[in-house]
Amino acid sequence: MNSEIISVGTELLLGQIDNINTRIISQKLSEIGINVFFHTSVGDNRERISSVFKIALERSDLIIFTGGLGPTLDDLTKETVAEVLRLELNYDEDTLNRIRAFFKKMQREMPENNKKQALVPEGAITIPNENGTAPGIILQTGEKIIILLPGPPNEMEPMLNKFVIPFLRKRLSNEVIKSRVLRFIGIGESSLEQKILDILKKQTNPTVAPLAKQGEVTLRITAKAKSEKDANELIEPIIQTIKERVGEYIYSYDNDPMEAVVGRMLIERRCTISIAESCTGGYLSHLLTNIPGISAVFDRGIISYSNKSKTEILNVPAEILKQKGAVSQETAISMASWIRKLSGTDLGVAITGIAGPDGGTPLKPVGLVFIALSTDSGDLCEKYLFNGNREAIKRRSALAALDLIRR
Ligand code: ATP
Ligand code: MG
Repeated sequence: MNSEIISVGTELLLGQIDNINTRIISQKLSEIGINVFFHTSVGDNRERISSVFKIALERSDLIIFTGGLGPTLDDLTKETVAEVLRLELNYDEDTLNRIRAFFKKMQREMPENNKKQALVPEGAITIPNENGTAPGIILQTGEKIIILLPGPPNEMEPMLNKFVIPFLRKRLSNEVIKSRVLRFIGIGESSLEQKILDILKKQTNPTVAPLAKQGEVTLRITAKAKSEKDANELIEPIIQTIKERVGEYIYSYDNDPMEAVVGRMLIERRCTISIAESCTGGYLSHLLTNIPGISAVFDRGIISYSNKSKTEILNVPAEILKQKGAVSQETAISMASWIRKLSGTDLGVAITGIAGPDGGTPLKPVGLVFIALSTDSGDLCEKYLFNGNREAIKRRSALAALDLIRR
């Protein structure tokens, strides 16, 4: 919740008094974790009060006024606020009785113009003033809270402590903050950003924050609302729009990592899998075996690094290795189809590539990776060129393999 304080009074601008109220209110708000982003002082002038209030409505969730709630003609805060918000002012019986009682206690006749202090904008909550006549006022319009407090610090401070701070505390604890994280693969952060630039630019609630990490991009969509349902209703249309634009790159709508999405899919479909890895050194098998319950479908993962082992364990023909090389489509398919046959699983997956930093050639640069998928209805192989260091290339390769299985 971002807040600002507007103190009203020409005497403040003339330097006749210190702005004690702003200091007290700021301290109290910061104690309960509310950001105070602006302090404004404005004279007793309808147009200028109206203009600073409109600015505040644009930029703050909580706006606290002090001053200008008195009975005299120069006290304009309440009237101006009601006018800007297009709220009618009605007499509040309780407040009027309280003002009458105040004068009675002081053994004074109530002047006619004090009646004006019992005028309250429609829908307002009033805050009793035990040390004076002007009630405090709390208005809630949409997401905004507007609070009016009287100028004299000895009136303002008890009202702040007794009513305003407890009210705000309650509001804060009623606020639900909900986040959804979309995870993307196959699209870079900047191209994603370009495709949803308008959404990123106009975000307020929900906020949309992109983050690039380890071979993938995530978008965190966060909404604040009164209930989880309201928050979901704010988030859902944004997700739909993003889905329409870049849905093919989204693999998770709830921040699940790729291995969880794929692992659960395999378990659900009872689809058994075996893996033959070269450049990823077992990383794909490691990721998949992080998923509880995967033993129902995960048969084996073999790391076959040398050419010799590729022939010995995975039956890759020596001619293929000689003519096409270990990093080739042919080798990848040969590895995948053999591991599938050997283990009798539904899927066979193989990864072979150049993780660097050495070993690249102009024809086969560092980052070149072949990933093959073997099924009983045929084999396929995808060629990738990943950038990054050795570890990044290993991770990107494993994620791409999982993405291939997912599709
Ligand atoms: P009143 O009923 O007394 O007229 P009000 O709500 O209309 O109260 P103002 O008329 O703006 O408030 O101010 C009344 C007095 O309160 C000022 O003369 C000043 O002494 C004090 N005061 C007002 N604003 C502040 C402030 N921001 N900090 C410290 N004192 C203030
Ligand atoms: Mg006054």
